[in-house]
Amino acid sequence: MRFEDLNLHSSLLKAVKDQNYTQPTAIQKKAIPLVLKRNDVLGSAQTGTGKTAAFALPILHHLISERTNNKIRALVVTPTRELAIQIGENFTVYSKYNSVRNTVIFGGVKQEAQTNKLAKGVEILIATPGRLLDLIGQGFISLKDIGYFVLDEADRMLDMGFIHDIRKILNQLPKERQSLFFSATMPKNIIDLSSQILKHPKRISVDPVSSTAETIKQYIYYTNKSSKKDLLLYILKDQSINQLLLFSRTKHGADRIVKNLRKKNIQASAIHGDKSQNQRQKALKSFKDSQIRVLVATDIAARGIDIDKLSFVLNYDIPNESETYVHRIGRCGRAGENGVAISICEPEENIYAKSIEKLIQQKIETVQNHPFLQTEKPMNLQQKKEFEKEKQRKRQEFFANRNKKRKKSR
Ligand code: AMP
Repeated sequence: MRFEDLNLHSSLLKAVKDQNYTQPTAIQKKAIPLVLKRNDVLGSAQTGTGKTAAFALPILHHLISERTNNKIRALVVTPTRELAIQIGENFTVYSKYNSVRNTVIFGGVKQEAQTNKLAKGVEILIATPGRLLDLIGQGFISLKDIGYFVLDEADRMLDMGFIHDIRKILNQLPKERQSLFFSATMPKNIIDLSSQILKHPKRISVDPVSSTAETIKQYIYYTNKSSKKDLLLYILKDQSINQLLLFSRTKHGADRIVKNLRKKNIQASAIHGDKSQNQRQKALKSFKDSQIRVLVATDIAARGIDIDKLSFVLNYDIPNESETYVHRIGRCGRAGENGVAISICEPEENIYAKSIEKLIQQKIETVQNHPFLQTEKPMNLQQKKEFEKEKQRKRQEFFANRNKKRKKSR
């Protein structure tokens, strides 16, 4: 199937072509025709499957024909600021050749820039729940004209304790609307929530991305935390690595890596959520033009980065979600070119490395002969349990604190 077969507006097809999407992904093939026919949809799909375009393109198609300027007609609610920004960027890219406007609102920053944009008028609003309710409460937003509602990453939303916020948002939505509901997993509480939102939904599902291109060679270096920095320099001694996309888990981590590399006269720049669009574009351009050797990115910033003939990707931290690994390494070895994916693994990350190997159904080759080797010691069941318990505790503590802060600031 080609995009042309989906009956989307020509301006959308043109934008998709600009993105070099050759054909729709599985979720897009399933969802786009259903949404165009105005069905409610219950989709089990994760980020990385092309889910955003699966809902953004048909919604834009409807809005182009409606020409309802200055009314917020579509609302996308998503759990995190990063996802909200990313979805907004996608809408902007797809509406390059039409006049449908979107804006993104999220908490943790001053509201003025966001309310100014709202005042100019938008047709699509992408929001995290807290800030959305906040701005509704202050009278900056009304949901009375919403005709299209998307609840994205519903399971994460509930994990993060947003259920009450979601209920409040639902109360404000017009009864007559088309609703799309996406979640990576479909436990009972999610199905229950979806039944309160959707009318006679069509159910679709796609598998998480699990295949890694056969053209990508994968290596793992086991080491300990304190040696990572030196190990990276050691790896970069190999001059055949002329262009390296390096992934860091955090923004601060990314900045630190750049600083360390520059100290050793290795040209590097970082792109992440705290960098302006300008800075990001500049870094990307220098990387593409080979003025810098290492581009350090966080996962969110790296989304959508498409670099022709990129041969080397390095995971400075092993991602805790295995699908993220597949996406990261999929940045190299595109279109049949050879690629090399290198991962640096410290002991606490062994468990993540194992679950990646399970997902991709292959053992990643361990590099044995390097000076910073830390023997691979998989955790036993008890250690694993404690590790998971501690992780869960930290997560709950983090979200509880955040929700508390949000409530206070409202
Ligand atoms: P998402 O699951 O929406 O986060 O999309 C993951 C990535 O896939 C994004 O970088 C999109 O730009 C890209 N993408 C979406 N649809 C397609 C397509 N049909 N062909 C190639 N890439 C796509």
